[in-house]
This record gives sequence, structure tokens and C-alpha cells, in this order.
Amino acid sequence: MVRFSTSTMRNIENRIPAGAELDRAATMPDHAPVRVRSARRTRRPVHAPALIRTAWWPSLVLFLLILGCAGRPLPSDGTARPAPTETVPATGAFKPGQLPVIRIGLLVNRDSANLTGTGRFRVVDRASGEVIGTSSSGQIWKMQAKGAWIDVSAPGGAAQGLYTGPIQVNPLAREGRIKAADREYRGSMEVVSNKTGKLTVVNILDVENYLRGVVPPEIGKLKEDRIEALKAQAIAARTYTVANLGRRKALGFDLYGTVADQVYHGYSAEWPVADRAIAETRGMIATYEGKPIAAQYSSTCAGETESIEDAWGGNPIPYLRSVQDRHRGSDDFCNHSPVYTWRVEWNKSTLENILATRLPGMDPRKRGEFSLRDISIKSRSPTGRVQQLEIKSNHGTTTLRSGQIRSALRRPVRGQPMLRSTKFDLKFRQNSIVAEGGGYGHGIGMCQFGAIGMAGQGYKYDQILKHYYRGIDLDRVYN
Ligand SMILES: [Zn+2]
Repeated sequence: MVRFSTSTMRNIENRIPAGAELDRAATMPDHAPVRVRSARRTRRPVHAPALIRTAWWPSLVLFLLILGCAGRPLPSDGTARPAPTETVPATGAFKPGQLPVIRIGLLVNRDSANLTGTGRFRVVDRASGEVIGTSSSGQIWKMQAKGAWIDVSAPGGAAQGLYTGPIQVNPLAREGRIKAADREYRGSMEVVSNKTGKLTVVNILDVENYLRGVVPPEIGKLKEDRIEALKAQAIAARTYTVANLGRRKALGFDLYGTVADQVYHGYSAEWPVADRAIAETRGMIATYEGKPIAAQYSSTCAGETESIEDAWGGNPIPYLRSVQDRHRGSDDFCNHSPVYTWRVEWNKSTLENILATRLPGMDPRKRGEFSLRDISIKSRSPTGRVQQLEIKSNHGTTTLRSGQIRSALRRPVRGQPMLRSTKFDLKFRQNSIVAEGGGYGHGIGMCQFGAIGMAGQGYKYDQILKHYYRGIDLDRVYN
């Protein structure tokens, strides 16, 4: 039996975790020795030294030119973030042809963060290079935002110091991990104080080790007989990563570790079969005319993927055209998905309550007075996905487009998750409204359940990728 995630959409909404990863509670002997020096620093500017700011640019620009990806940005995903507040450079120096190092924003705009290690680890003030302390496995260091400062404190009150940071937390053993927010991560951590007086915790590691914490949460802990789907996912995720290095650089990192970019759960999510899929495709990305592709993917297309311009507007992209998710005469590759078809029923008052808060432009003071008069589908894309939905109420007429439809017609269950897709019909009952639909996600690019289905039928990763992304090549950009 294949285990998989039922919700693998990126950039759209909360997902159901792929597997039951139990948090490994650290055992924390509070008697272990800690060597720290109390330190109080003079205030330094929060932004990085000019040397660092200038050093990484030429190599990144050169890299982008070589990959030829300096052109089209990725389509807007509707997950706009607050204005950039941080000037720490996102990527470290990158040399073309070499494995990139990536910075992942794990915790962003926090008042405090607790960090510990699975083995001995060292806490360093990056600005001065001073070692603040060396600690034993499991000892928790607390970092608190204090204006432009970071208040660093060692276990047991052994030391406390104010720093402008960034503060680095580095494992001393080769396989040592740092633990933050109940998950373990490879590489090192950096705690940065940003201009809003909050902390950002950044995990710094190489892209191949990063992918080990991305592929299982994105497509599930698949077994050996589905490894080709894991390889396809690894290449799609690697392509997204390489094409988007520096995407969040104004925030001091490259990518979020969430659905806003790619879900990343670090060492705690790793899975041996996925590790092998990543290793066997090392350095490989999907390209179109020599440029990394915009490797969009979503959970379940329910028979046909969507052309990007039909979902998000803008210009067509040759490799993001709608494809039939089957080969001649076969069943749909994703027909085994638990959300291949679905049904949602709202009673009228429940839907009115949802729309009263979720409909764009609603006045919150009038939420209690929402009366739904009509709801109708005005247009569909060539694959049958709803493009325009008209809602008439006592507040007037609102026309919702593509992405807005899913976030307005939320499901009447706990947490009010978004509607799974825009591929649906509406039926009207005496006192309720029913949506009968199929699929999960925007439907653009690779269908993840389809990829799993293809792997089960013996297709190889390159066949899977070239089925969903027509006309692409696979290139190794580093060894
Ligand atoms: Zn599909």
C-alpha cells in the first residue's frame, strides 16, 4: 500500500502532513556543563557588512546568466508577504557548477526562539566571530528579540548577553543536527534580528540535503516501487529551488520552508527511499530552451492538467499547457487519489456565514447581515475548471475569479479549508448547496498522484516529467 499525502499543493493552502512524523523530544540533562561567557556588545547596525553584501552578487548574477533564468519571474502565487525588512544577503557565495548553499526561513518574525542540538554545538556571534558558548546535546539556548538586539541566554542562566547578531548555531559533529520548533535540521542555524524588532531563524545547508527534507512532505513517504515518482518530485523541487534562489532575499533568506515556497521539515522528515531518489538525480533540473522551468505541481488534476494562463492569467508558457493525464486508452493516472472526486455540501446559513467573512471586500461590521440570493458559474476554462463565479447577496453582486473562488467557497469543516479545486458543478437543494468536483490544487504542471500512478505502471522519472512538462530537457547543473 502506498502512503501518500492527500494535499500536496504548493502556494495554495495548508496541507495535510505526509506522514506521522513524531517529534523526537530531546532529552535534556540540565546538569551538563556549559561554558559560556557573558557578553554585552555595543550596538551594531543590523544590516550585513558591505563586504558580504557585495561579495555574493557577481557570482549569483553569473549563475543566473549561465542558467539563463534571469527573465520571467514565477507567476504570482497570491501569497504576498509583508514588505521586506531585512538586508542580510540571502544566498552565500555560489560558484557555477557547484552545489549551492541555501538559506531557508524556518521561523519568521518571532519574539523568541529556542535552539538545541542532537550533539555538541557551538553558538557564535557572526559579527565579531566570538564564540559565545559551546554546549552539550539537548541543552536549550533561548534567543529573545529585544528591539534591534538579540538576547542570548544559555541553560541555567549560566550566561546572558545582548548581541546585534546574527547568531550562528553550528553542530560540531558531522552528522549533528540543530533542533528548532520541535524538528531537527541538518546544517547550521542563524538567528537574525530584523528591522521590525523580531527574530528570524534561518537554516543554512546545501541544496541536496535541503531536498531530503522537502521531497517526503511534498509527495509522501512512497515505497520502493514508486521511486520514479520520488525522482520526478526531487527534480521538480530542485528546479524550483535553483530557479528561485534569492527569491526572499529581502527577508534574509532564499525560500520559506512552507507552502509559500516548498514545505521543508528537515531531518525529521527524511525517508531512505526519497534520499536514494535525490542522490540518483543529483544536480538534475528540468529546463526549457536552456532555462530552468517554473516547475509548478499540484496534488491531483482529476484527468486533465490546466494551462497556466487559464488558471492565473498572463502569457501562456509552452511547457505548462493542459495535458490529458492518461495515455491512449488508459485510465487517468491519478484516479487512485482519494480526492479524484469529492463532494461538499453547505447548508444555506453555513455558506452565508462563510461568505460573510471570506468574500473579498466585505465590510466586517455587516457580517451578521449576509443573505445569499444566487450563486452561479459564469465561465469555465477549456478543462472545465470554473473561471468566474457570480455571487449575489444583499451586499450586491461579486464576481470571483479562479483563485478567489477556492478561498471564498471554504469547506464547512474545522478550520474552513479552501475548496479543493475549481473543477466542480453546483447543485441546489431545498436548503443547501452542493459542489461535486474533482482533484486538488491548481492543476498546473505535474500531477503528483498522476506521477505516483505512472511510477506504479513502470514509467521512469524522465517519462513522468516529460508527460506533464512538454518539450523540456533534463540537465545536470552540478555534480
Ligand atoms: Zn492527474
